[in-house]
Amino acid sequence: AKSDGRSCFRFFDEALQPSIEFKASLENDLRDAVFNRDILPYFQPQLNHLHEPIGAEILLRWQHPKHGMISPAEFIPLAEDSDIINRIGTEVLQHACRQLAVWQQDPATANLVLSVNISARQFMQKNFVDTVLSSIETHQCSGSRLRLEITESLMLKNINELAIKIDKLRSHGITLSLDDFGTGYSSLSILRSFPLDEIKIDKSFVDHMLKNANDAHIIRTVINMSSHMGMTVIAEGVETDAQEAFLAKHGCLNYQGYLFGKPMPMEEFNKYINQHMNA
Ligand code: C2E
Ligand code: CA
Ligand code: CA
Ligand code: CA
Repeated sequence: AKSDGRSCFRFFDEALQPSIEFKASLENDLRDAVFNRDILPYFQPQLNHLHEPIGAEILLRWQHPKHGMISPAEFIPLAEDSDIINRIGTEVLQHACRQLAVWQQDPATANLVLSVNISARQFMQKNFVDTVLSSIETHQCSGSRLRLEITESLMLKNINELAIKIDKLRSHGITLSLDDFGTGYSSLSILRSFPLDEIKIDKSFVDHMLKNANDAHIIRTVINMSSHMGMTVIAEGVETDAQEAFLAKHGCLNYQGYLFGKPMPMEEFNKYINQHMNA
C-alpha cells in the first residue's frame, strides 16, 4: 500500500492489484465496520460566488483498525459488490438528516443543503424512497435541504422505476444532483429522461479546462445548457483562483474544492461555517 498524498492508503494500486484473498478479508472487515466509529462522515464545504457556504457534501472515511485510513474510492466499490452498500447508505442518510435537523435550529445554518452520494444499487433498492422519507420523518428535517447525488450509471437500470422514484423524491422537496457529469456515455440521455435540479461538473474537466480548449468548450456548454434547463451547476475539484475565475466568468457560480476546504470532520466543519458565516 502506498499513500496517495491525501492521508488515505491506496490498496488497489494500478501496478499492484490486491490479491483476491486480501479483497475478501477487507470486505469482511467492512461488514464489521461500525458507522461513526470506523466509518466516519466527513463534510466538504460548497460555496457560492460570494464565498458564502451554501452546504456540504458528505464523503466517507474508513478508519481501519489495522490498515489506517482507507479512501472511499477503495471501499465504496467493494461495498457496492454486495448489500453492504445499502446498510452504509442508510446510515449516511440517517446521519445527514440528523445533522440537517440540528442546522435548522439556527437561522445561520438553516439554509445549508447537505448532499449525499447514492450508489445505483442503493437507489434501485425496492424500498429506497421509503428509507429516505423515513429518515426525514424520524429527524424532522426539511426535505428541501437534502440533496441526493446520483450518477448516470442509473441509466442502465429500469427506467420506469427510476422515473417514479425521482418524481416521488422531488415531490417531497428533495433535490437531485447529477454527479461526475460528462465522464460516462449517457450523461445527456439521463438529462433527457429525468428532471434533475443540479449538474455537478466533474473534477477531470476542471483539472484540464485551462489547458485544454475542448474541455473549456464542454464546460461552457454544460453551464449554458444547465441554465436553459433550469438546473443549477456546481464545479467540483476547484483548486486554484484561476479555475474559479474561469468558471465564474462563464456563469458557474457554485464551487467545491480544496481551494475552499477539504472534506473535514463535523466539529471542524461547524467551526468552518461559523468563521465563514461571520465573514
Ligand atoms: P465523488 O462523489 O466524485 O466525490 C468527489 C471526490 O473528489 C472526493 O473524493 C473529494 O474528496 C475529492 N475532491 C473534492 N475536491 C477536491 C479537490 O479540490 N482536489 C482533489 N484532488 N480532490 C477533491 P473522496 O472523498 O476520496 O471520495 C471518492 C468517491 O467515493 C466519491 O467521489 C464518491 O463516488 C464515493 N463516495 C464517498 N462517500 C460516499 C457515500 O457515502 N456513498 C457512496 N455511494 N459513495 C461515496
Ligand atoms: Ca459526489
Ligand atoms: Ca463527483
Ligand atoms: Ca468525480
